[in-house]
Amino acid sequence: MKKEIDYTRFNSPVTPNRSRRLYIETYGCQMNVSDSEVVAAIMQQAGFTITDHMADADVVLINTCSVRDNAEQRVRGRLDLFRLQKQRMPGLIVGVLGCMAERLKEQLLENGTVDLVAGPDAYRTLPQLVHNAESGQQGVNTLLSREETYADISPVRTDKNGVTAFVSIMRGCNNVCAYCVVPYTRGAERSRPSETILREVRTLLQNGYREVTLLGQNVNSYCEPAAAESKTITFARLLERVALEDPSLRVRFSTSHPKDMHNDVLYTIAMYPNICNHIHLPVQSGSSRILEKMRRGYSREHYMERLAKIREIIPECAITTDIIAGFCSETDDDHAQTLSLMREAEYDAAFMFRYSERPGTKAARHYPDDVPTEIKTRRLNEIIALQNQLSLESNRRDVGKIFIVLAEGNSKRSDAFLFGRTSHNKVTVFPKAKFKAGDYVPVKITTCTSATLIGEVTGMNNE
Ligand code: SF4
Repeated sequence: MKKEIDYTRFNSPVTPNRSRRLYIETYGCQMNVSDSEVVAAIMQQAGFTITDHMADADVVLINTCSVRDNAEQRVRGRLDLFRLQKQRMPGLIVGVLGCMAERLKEQLLENGTVDLVAGPDAYRTLPQLVHNAESGQQGVNTLLSREETYADISPVRTDKNGVTAFVSIMRGCNNVCAYCVVPYTRGAERSRPSETILREVRTLLQNGYREVTLLGQNVNSYCEPAAAESKTITFARLLERVALEDPSLRVRFSTSHPKDMHNDVLYTIAMYPNICNHIHLPVQSGSSRILEKMRRGYSREHYMERLAKIREIIPECAITTDIIAGFCSETDDDHAQTLSLMREAEYDAAFMFRYSERPGTKAARHYPDDVPTEIKTRRLNEIIALQNQLSLESNRRDVGKIFIVLAEGNSKRSDAFLFGRTSHNKVTVFPKAKFKAGDYVPVKITTCTSATLIGEVTGMNNE
């Protein structure tokens, strides 16, 4: 019986007359979304076509998050799926990008599914890494850089609404909070030249975008050193320059650090109506003892003083936050202090998590992860329940008011309704009437849930 020969292995790599198709899957924070847009631009320049369908792809890149263990578990699940896809499509190239790539490096090559690994500062080398992988050579590049900001690369926008866009203004973080992997996976802080940020904003305006969110791990420490006779560009000055580009462009920013939230930023927000009245100010804990152990660089009192200053200078400013439940050595009293701070702060919304020990962090190296999981979960549930109540109270205070909402697209529930956000970052749903995505719409709030404002289009506004 003649032996079957697998003729596919004689096939030459992808024929030149069809550009190779790239599928990018993104997990984690807005910074990763923005990075995937940079990756898409680099690969497009190298002749790839971006596809939204993994089944059509010649190359699959997954941009990963390492902030908590379950984020990495999700990626492992996807890699299992890619292994099956690879069995169906021999020659398929699989690459892992982002924070998990930076943290695990060569280890990710071990299961044979992954052909290349590239850290957040290595995306310019992706075309070469893919080329090598196509000729059977696995590759890893996880060098972190003190300069790289991808400032000269115009991101390929992956959002579908064409209304809002992220603009990365800096990379890395110098804070080294005890629980956080970011400084190890994204490296030291570096600010992008302001002229390249303004150029990207102008391009977005020309392409009809109506809102930009300036992105960084800690935007308040943005700093473009003084060139010749000009002054140092601080975050407040950058914010002002972006706002001055066009009064019809809404400007948001994320993420801030309480220890660097200085008054100049607050006065700048108060001065420009198109800078949104919303500040995301992660607190993490209400206990000064825990904040010190977390190396957050501020106490409860310092944080609350900043909150009071924000509300003094921008009375209608919405405040959202991040909270970690169950950090090392957290007692019931520490937890109670977190709940009391939330009540005092009256947050509009929050991202809330159980502490997840991350390998290599100061906490993992020095502190036992000694709060039992069931206690972490109970405390997290109490924090979530309180925040749902605070969010509902905050939204109820908006019923009867009129806000200018930037429409972003059709509501998930019905094409007869649009959704968008108010200046204070509240998702609002209203009947479409004659409006479309990209329009500023005066909406009178008639009712709400803890997550959404619901309203009707009206002629006037009282913002
Ligand atoms: S400020 Fe702290 S929590 Fe935020 S990215 Fe930097 S190290 Fe991580």
